[in-house]
Amino acid sequence: LSYHKADDIDMQTLDAKDLPLLFRRRYGAEPLVFRAPGRVNLIGEHTDYNDGFVLPAALDLSTYAAIAARSDRMIRVHSVNLNSDFAFDLDEPQSRAGAWSDYICGVALELEKSGYRLRGADIMVFSTLSMGSGLSASAALEVAVGYALLSVSGEEIDLLDLAKICQRAENDFVGMRCGIMDQFISCHGVEGAALLLDCRSLEHRTVPIDPSVRIVICNTMVHHELAGSAFNERRRECEEAVALLSSSIKGVMALRDVGVEQLEAHAARLPATIFKRARHVVSENARALAAVAALETRDFTEFGRLMNASHESLRNDYKVSCAELDLMAELARGVPGVYGARMTGGGFGGCVVALVEAFATAHFADAVGPAYEKATNLSPMIFTCFPGPGAGPAIF
Ligand code: ADP
Ligand code: MG
Repeated sequence: LSYHKADDIDMQTLDAKDLPLLFRRRYGAEPLVFRAPGRVNLIGEHTDYNDGFVLPAALDLSTYAAIAARSDRMIRVHSVNLNSDFAFDLDEPQSRAGAWSDYICGVALELEKSGYRLRGADIMVFSTLSMGSGLSASAALEVAVGYALLSVSGEEIDLLDLAKICQRAENDFVGMRCGIMDQFISCHGVEGAALLLDCRSLEHRTVPIDPSVRIVICNTMVHHELAGSAFNERRRECEEAVALLSSSIKGVMALRDVGVEQLEAHAARLPATIFKRARHVVSENARALAAVAALETRDFTEFGRLMNASHESLRNDYKVSCAELDLMAELARGVPGVYGARMTGGGFGGCVVALVEAFATAHFADAVGPAYEKATNLSPMIFTCFPGPGAGPAIF
């Protein structure tokens, strides 16, 4: 015989609202709950670590961190998604474990290194984002936990500082040399808008998403494990391009400082592969700025053309796409009412983002889903997203 208590939680349909109850059961204390969103990048891919321009929007999918302070300096964490636990002492030295604990340990240690004094805490994390799908569950985890730790420690929250600290944690502790985009947008997201971010000055501007269009995300359900190492390899290739170009072009500190024609003129100085990598970054910066202008003048056709061009450049020059992303983008572009589609995030799997006329979202999934599944045997996740706000206390 089985029976359900009135407060029983169905783990299959778990909602963030259930976190306080789960927390009380596990830790016997009343938590505070904080939230940090994932993101979708509309255009400007692999430009952030080249000091360039990006156009991300925070998602309405988030990671939640429920937290209660402890009297000692222990941090205990449970991930509801992974049904996994770990604990560490803030006063003991920690090193990389190669596991999800690294994101949390890294943030805690980096916060203390930056001068914040943390209290020990019991933490429970739960995310409505699928992990490793290029929607930046990693940054959402870092920012949610960082925000939660600062809050219960009575420390003031400076969102820009938090974003930088979380990036350093991912760079130095996790070992993924990502740029600032993911952590920045998770901290600074604006409801109903994307952000144009200058990754050098960190100046940013909100770019509202017109109500006549929708952002549709298509998860290929492919997660390539080599994403981390290939990502770091691309960074090295960009650094090599900068080293070679800076000897002949004055004032080149990053690929941000190079124009498309300038690069073409110096092509002979670069090995063929390095030239292609640089050509992606330099042309993508120009596309990101042109795309913002297009969005602001409601020229969605031009925005879509730039999205498609971005995908081709990521596939042919930067070599970070894969067969499933190419197929998904192609299928999406074939649907009436779709302006453009491109891979989003680091690549090698993950998601395609499409800009779609609002009325066309109703038939989008039916047009793309079955065809994708037939060709790949993978059942894709396709959904419309509405840009949400950045990190803060969770409001249920
Ligand atoms: P993405 O950021 O695109 O989702 P990453 O590989 O950078 O992909 O980050 C995913 C990793 O972040 C997971 O493999 C896991 O280690 C960690 N992670 C993210 N969310 C959670 C969570 N809710 N619980 C535990 N680990 C998580
Ligand atoms: Mg990530």
